[in-house]
Amino acid sequence: MTGRSGCNCDPEMVFELVERSLPPEQEREVRAHLERCPGCRERYELEAELNARLEALDFSGPRRSVCERVAMALPTRPAKVRLLWVLLAGGLLLVSLAALGLNGTNPAAFVVDASAAFWSSAAILASLVSKVLYAAGPVLLAALLIGALLDLVLLAVLLAVARRTRAV
Ligand SMILES: [Zn+2]
Repeated sequence: MTGRSGCNCDPEMVFELVERSLPPEQEREVRAHLERCPGCRERYELEAELNARLEALDFSGPRRSVCERVAMALPTRPAKVRLLWVLLAGGLLLVSLAALGLNGTNPAAFVVDASAAFWSSAAILASLVSKVLYAAGPVLLAALLIGALLDLVLLAVLLAVARRTRAV
């Protein structure tokens, strides 16, 4: 068998190499392995390309962390799922920007805004999840859901901090 899944190696090492999160010694080992293993080399090239595209999109800011880490930790990350992930991150970002754009300095208005933002995020999520459901297994889905929920919590905290800063 050849192709993406042509070798039985642990893909996690390749992902971590692409994300430059390996200690130098381990990085050398994995690079040496890539020389010998066409399956891993192919996976590496694919991941490096996807990574470069994601970086070009530049989702900077504090919201980047949790969700993306969960997505990156998934054992298999088909391009389709990563694309959905980018859409989800973009959608949540838009929702948070829209909520921040509303000028309400009174605390009651903030609560309403925050819950509105939460529920529109939930609606976006629900439609994304139904699409992912067809393409992904339950484990992947669970990981995405957990990441998205964490993201929503982060979003709520960010909103609260932003409101408070603006009110002062
Ligand atoms: Zn290999």
